Amino acid sequence: MKELVLASHNPGKLKELQAMLGAQVKLRSIAEFSQVEPEETGLSFIENAILKARHAAEVSGLPALADDSGLAVDYLGGAPGIYSARFAADEGAKGDAANNAKLLRVLEGVPEAERGAQFVCVLALMRHPTDPLPLVCEGLWQGRILSQAQGQHGFGYDPLFWLEEHQCSSAELAPELKNQHSHRALAMRLLKQRLGL
Ligand code: IMP
Repeated sequence: MKELVLASHNPGKLKELQAMLGAQVKLRSIAEFSQVEPEETGLSFIENAILKARHAAEVSGLPALADDSGLAVDYLGGAPGIYSARFAADEGAKGDAANNAKLLRVLEGVPEAERGAQFVCVLALMRHPTDPLPLVCEGLWQGRILSQAQGQHGFGYDPLFWLEEHQCSSAELAPELKNQHSHRALAMRLLKQRLGL
C-alpha cells in the first residue's frame, strides 16, 4: 500500500499522522476528492472511524484511513467520549474553553482517586468501501482530570489531563514527547505493526 487517503480535512492532523506513519506510505487529504464530511452517526469511536474511512474510500477510490478520538472520563461513564469536541454544546457554548469549563464543573468535588480518564484514538483502515474486515487499531493514554488547567501546549482537554508518568499535564509536555506517547501515537504504532511497516 503506497498511498492512503486520510479522512480528515484538518491539515495539522495529516501532517502529524504522516510524520508518525513514515515515508513509506503517502497520506493524501480527502480534500482532494470531496468537501463533504459524512455525518458521524455512530455511537462509538470505532463506528465513527469506520464510517469516515468508508466514505473516504468511496469518494477517492483509494484505501482510506480515518481516526476518531476523544476523552473518556471514568467517573462520567466514558463521557464526553465521541462527543468530546462538542461537550458544552447542550449549554449553547462551543470550543475548548467551554468544554474544559464544563468538565471542571461536572467533576467539582470529585476526589483525585476517582478522576481517572483516558484519551482514546481509534484508527480504521479500509482497503475499499465494502471491505468486510477493516483494520482497527486503538490507542489509550491514561491520565487523571486536574481541578484546574495547567500548561500552554496542545489543544482540547490537554491542560486538564494529568500524566502520572510525566508528572505534568499533557499541555505541559513538549509537543515532540506528546507525539511519542499520545493515544494517536500508540494507535499508529499498532497500525504500523499490523501493516508490517
Ligand atoms: P478529533 O477526533 O481530533 O476531532 O478530536 C475530538 C476531540 O477530542 C477534540 O476536539 C478534543 O476535544 C478531544 N481530543 C482528542 N485528542 C486530543 C488530544 O490529544 N488532546 C486534547 N484533546 C483531545
